[in-house]
Amino acid sequence: MSKSKIEQANPAADRDLYSGLIRLHVLHHAAEGPVFGLGMIEELARHGYRISPGSLYPLLKGLEKKGYLRSAEKRSGRSLRRVYRATPLGRKALAASKSKVRELFHELIEGD
Ligand SMILES: [Zn+2]
Repeated sequence: MSKSKIEQANPAADRDLYSGLIRLHVLHHAAEGPVFGLGMIEELARHGYRISPGSLYPLLKGLEKKGYLRSAEKRSGRSLRRVYRATPLGRKALAASKSKVRELFHELIEGD
């Protein structure tokens, strides 16, 4: 018998589960400095998240629409690239999320 479906991760469900973490991750890096789509895809891949441009760009746009990110076109060689930075509101949201993440971390990892 082949590997059961239960054992196999469901990429769509995982994406749903991790989307908040991905958003926080993006916000974290955008608070540290300018980020751009492809760079962020590579950064997320380094952390084990596989996200396509088709999923990441709407996510970035959504964060921008919420006022957490601001973007601008920047020329890089011959191509234009859209770079994103966290706004003061985005930094505030990120700071507020830290205590929630810490609490979740304690519960998930340390079991209390
Ligand atoms: Zn990172």
